[in-house]
Amino acid sequence: MDDERDTSTDGTTFDDLGLRPELLRALSALGYEEPTPIQQEAIPPLVEGRDLLGQAATGTGKTAAFALPVLQRLTAHRTDRAPVGLVLVPTRELAVQVSEALHRYGRELGARVLPVYGGAPIVRQLRSLESGVDVVVATPGRALDLLNRGSLELGEIATVVLDEADEMLDMGFAEDLEAILDETPESRQTVLFSATMPRRLDALARRHLSDPVRITIAREKAQAGEAPRVRQTAYVVPRAAKPAALGRVLDIEAPTAAIVFCRTREEVDALTETLNGRGYRAEALHGGMSQEQRDRVMGRLRGGTADLLVATDVAARGLDIEQLTHVVNYDVPSAPESYVHRIGRVGRAGREGVAITLAEPREHRMLKTIERVAGSPISVQTVPTVADLRARRLDLTRGALRESLLGDDLDRFRVVVETLADEFDLMEVALAAVKLAHEAGGAADDDEEIPQVTFRPDAGKRPGGRESGQGAARGDGPRGRRSSGGPAARLFVGAGREAGIRPGDLVGAITGETGLTGRDIGAIEIHQRFALVEVPESAADEVIGALKATMIKGRKATVRRDKS
Ligand code: AMP
Repeated sequence: MDDERDTSTDGTTFDDLGLRPELLRALSALGYEEPTPIQQEAIPPLVEGRDLLGQAATGTGKTAAFALPVLQRLTAHRTDRAPVGLVLVPTRELAVQVSEALHRYGRELGARVLPVYGGAPIVRQLRSLESGVDVVVATPGRALDLLNRGSLELGEIATVVLDEADEMLDMGFAEDLEAILDETPESRQTVLFSATMPRRLDALARRHLSDPVRITIAREKAQAGEAPRVRQTAYVVPRAAKPAALGRVLDIEAPTAAIVFCRTREEVDALTETLNGRGYRAEALHGGMSQEQRDRVMGRLRGGTADLLVATDVAARGLDIEQLTHVVNYDVPSAPESYVHRIGRVGRAGREGVAITLAEPREHRMLKTIERVAGSPISVQTVPTVADLRARRLDLTRGALRESLLGDDLDRFRVVVETLADEFDLMEVALAAVKLAHEAGGAADDDEEIPQVTFRPDAGKRPGGRESGQGAARGDGPRGRRSSGGPAARLFVGAGREAGIRPGDLVGAITGETGLTGRDIGAIEIHQRFALVEVPESAADEVIGALKATMIKGRKATVRRDKS
C-alpha cells in the first residue's frame, strides 16, 4: 500500500481482483467477504505476472495474497509431474498451514499441493513427487535435500514464493535459498514476503527479483488520534481456549450490548452457535444474509432481546448502534485500519467504550502495529482467572441487591423474612437470599480455568526479530542454540515415543502456542513414555500453560516442571 488509498473501506471485492471463477467460488464458500488490504494490493500485480516484495506480518491475510495468484495460473486438473509453484517457508508448521490454504482455495481446480519438510518420512514425500504435484510447499533444508536426490524437479516452476523470508535468513537458510532459486527457470515470477526487511534481505531481493512491486502493509499513516477514547485491552490466549476466553471476558465485562468481530461467515455462524449454547443471547450478522434477515437481527439487538452481535466487517459496516458498549475482536484484525474502524463504534458521545481483542501469542507484532496506527495504548493482559470471575460475579450480585434495596418495593417479602427470622439469625437469612439471587443470575461455579499465557516481553524486539513464533523444526536445517541465553527450565511432557511424539511435534506445539521461537528451545529428549524439553526459565510457566491447553499429536498430555 504505497498510495494513500484507505483500502480497508473502499469496497473492493474479490471479483474486482481479476480472479478466476473457481477461486471466487472457493472464497465465497469459505465465507471470505472481502479481500484484506494486502490481498487488494498484491493480487492484481501478481495475477499480471509481476514480481513482488511485500512487507507484511502474519494475520494480514498474506497467505491468500500469494496463494490465489499461484492458483490463478494453474491449469485446472493438470496431470504433469513437475510442479509449477514452489513456496519456501521457514518451518514445518508454516509448510502445513500454507499447504492447507492452497488446498482449500484450489480444491475446485484439483490442485495437487505437497508440503515437504524435515522430520516427516521422506519416502512418502518422494512417492508424492513421483506421482506428480502442482505446488510444493517446502522448508529450504528438505527442498534442497530432495533437489540433490533428483526427486524435486524445478524446471517447470512458474512462481516461487519466499514466505517469512527474514525468518529463513535468521535460521541460516540463505545459502540453501540461493541454491534452490538457481535451479528454477530465469523466467519465473518471484514473490518475497517478510515481516521485516533487514539489509541482508534486500541483497537477496535485488539478486532474485526483477522490477518488483513493493507493498508495505500497516504503514504508519497519519491516523494517530483518530481512535476515539476507548479503553483498549488485549487478552493473550491460545487458539484452543478462545471460546472459553470470550465467555470469560463477556462475563467479567457484562456489556450492555457488544459486537464480536470475526473474519469469516463460517466463524460468525460457529461462534454464534457456541455463544448461544453457553447461554448468551447472540445473533449472527454477515454478508450471506438477506436484508430482511439483517433487519430482523438489528431489531432484536435494538429491542434488547439480543445483546451480542457476532459479525464480519462487511456486515457491520455503517451500523450505528446506540446502546453498544463493547467491541470484541475475536481475532486480531488483518489491518490496523479495520481495528480503528471497529473500535470507532463505541465511545461515542462522551460515553466510555471498551475494545477487547483476543490475540494469540504469535500475533504480538500485528498488535504492536495496530497500537501504533491507532495511536493509543492497548493494555495486554492475561485472561481473567476463575477467581477473578467469581469476585466479579459477586460484585454484580452486590450491585443488583443494592439497586433493589434502593428502589424496589420490598414490603411484600417482609413476611418471608419475618417468619424465617423466628428460626434463623437475620444474617443467615440474608446469606441464603444472596445465594439464591446470585445463582439466579446464572452464576454457576463450574468454570474451567483458562491457561494463562503472555507475550514474551522481548518478543519481536530482537534483531531480525520474529513475528510468527514459528520455530525451526529439529531435523531440518541448522540447529541453533537457545537464543535467549538465560537460565533454562526443564519441562516434563507426559507423552513420548510410544505416542508417536517427535522433537518437531514439541517444537511445533511450543512455537505455535507461545511467543517462543525454535531457537529458544533447548535440548529435547524423547523417552518411551515421556519427553523432556528445555525452555527459558522466564517462559516456563507460559509454555506449561500453553502445552496443557493444546493437543500434542492429537492428545492432551501432562506438562509440568521436571523434578528429576
Ligand atoms: P495469514 O495472514 O495468511 O496467516 O491469514 C490470517 C487468517 O485470515 C487466516 O486464518 C485466513 O484464513 C484468514 N483470511 C485470509 N484472508 C481473508 C479474507 N479476505 N477474509 C477473511 N479471512 C481471511
